[in-house]
Amino acid sequence: MEQFQGKSIFNGIAIGRILFYSKNQKQVKRTKIEDVEAEIVRYEQARETAISQLNMLHEKAAAEVGEVNAQIFEVHAMMLADEDYNDSVLNMIRQQEVNAEYAVAATGDNFAEMFENMEDEYFRARAIDIKDISERLLNVLTGGESGGNIGDEPVIIVAEDLAPSETVQMDKDKLLSFVTRLGSSNSHTAILARTMNIPALIGVQIQESWNGKMAVVDGYHGVLYVNPTDEVLEKMQKRQDEDKAKRELLQKLKGKDDVTKSGQAIRLYANIGNVSDLASVLQNDAAGIGLFRSEFIYLESGDYPTEEEQFKIYKQVAETMAGKKVIIRTLDIGADKQVDYFQMEHEENPAMGYRAIRICLTRQEIFKTQLRALFRASAYGNIAIMYPMIISVDEVQQIKQIVEKVKKELDEADIRYGKVEQGIMIETPAAAVISDLLAKEVDFFSIGTNDLTQYMLAIDRQNSKLDNFYDAHHEAVLRMIQTVVDNAHAAGIWAGICGELGADMTLTDKFLDMGVDELSVSPAFVLPMREIIRNHG
Ligand code: PEP
Ligand code: MG
Repeated sequence: MEQFQGKSIFNGIAIGRILFYSKNQKQVKRTKIEDVEAEIVRYEQARETAISQLNMLHEKAAAEVGEVNAQIFEVHAMMLADEDYNDSVLNMIRQQEVNAEYAVAATGDNFAEMFENMEDEYFRARAIDIKDISERLLNVLTGGESGGNIGDEPVIIVAEDLAPSETVQMDKDKLLSFVTRLGSSNSHTAILARTMNIPALIGVQIQESWNGKMAVVDGYHGVLYVNPTDEVLEKMQKRQDEDKAKRELLQKLKGKDDVTKSGQAIRLYANIGNVSDLASVLQNDAAGIGLFRSEFIYLESGDYPTEEEQFKIYKQVAETMAGKKVIIRTLDIGADKQVDYFQMEHEENPAMGYRAIRICLTRQEIFKTQLRALFRASAYGNIAIMYPMIISVDEVQQIKQIVEKVKKELDEADIRYGKVEQGIMIETPAAAVISDLLAKEVDFFSIGTNDLTQYMLAIDRQNSKLDNFYDAHHEAVLRMIQTVVDNAHAAGIWAGICGELGADMTLTDKFLDMGVDELSVSPAFVLPMREIIRNHG
């Protein structure tokens, strides 16, 4: 047995034979042509055929893996309509009097190289899309087939890299897993693997000699076993059976409403930290996003993220969620989330220090940049904004004034934005106690039980020595939640829970009885919680 470590992009276990997948790389010859106009017509016809193939693939993929994940084919069709790409091909045919195949291959290589050299990771990842559309065009021009043929047996696909059009064309019943050397967790192929619910690894030093060998992919630990021992096989088989039983039970809940037997509806949303979590949100069928921790954008960046950078991310989340509610929390930096470029001074008590909204209200240029990006993105979906670490009505009023300024600036610049609900996190005892007053100022409350518990119980959430003192179900916290919910309802607004306690399934029934309107949890908890909600009397 040999064992190889890679990076897991989706968990699960796959057991089967390896198929070493290599694209039928076309040898493109450069040929001088006589009739330039006829060659251009040939190219245009190939382009139209490729676009209609992509439209068909889009429909197929939308039915199989959902509209959002199928959008890549729409993007490819749009890329085939791109002027720069087409001008390059047409110029080459005209000026160099070469065959369309050569012009397409050369343009594809040039553009892919250009994208590969870009700094922005997103654009770098687009190089594979360029190669993909160029290969499709070449297939049409040479009358070949467009990849995706993996034979009749279920297999673990091992490849250098995989283009989304190849993965989606593969027969899903025959697809056990993907293992590639290249690829990134944000690539569309990774997203498709997650949506198809098959384990996938990247960053594995693959070998062609594995073709046909038995293997096990352990997506939980990112390990590939080639020629596994009987012992490993048995262990993995057991884990696979357990997974299957669990999944089957939960899948039946996809598409079902989050409504109790007595008709009480609850919003079951998901928490995310970045864009790559979106696939899991869709896969687990959350009704919206209840907490997007936007500070991860700042944590992953080497400098203050610009308005444009943030706008793109918020827009992508809003568009992917296609009209479902996306609650984005403004920057919650400080305490355990430190960022070098903020150059924060050392503090004795950072958890009770200069953090979150306190930074935003003192360094308003940072706050306004984020708000502008959020409001601009709101034109592309159903974005709501919430503010962390609030302790007073005065803070909320200050925020509202800043928001009004931002909106005015956008109006003056003729930049459109949508209707944006604004809420606050209730995560300090002060906010919980005056939630009757705060409720008059905002559209919703989201209770951050992680911080609320640490401040209510005076127990540092980072200090593992205090584990024995920490009681997540402390009556003080539960009473506070009830108070907040009641105060919200009295003022006609809704209240949810986005802290970890919201996913504590031993409390779901209690929260429903308390009248909590929303629970926002890690994507993997959505379906198990749906089951509890639907069984609630
Ligand atoms: C919370 O405090 O409960 C919360 C959701 O925010 P974070 O865990 O990011 O502080
Ligand atoms: Mg918090």
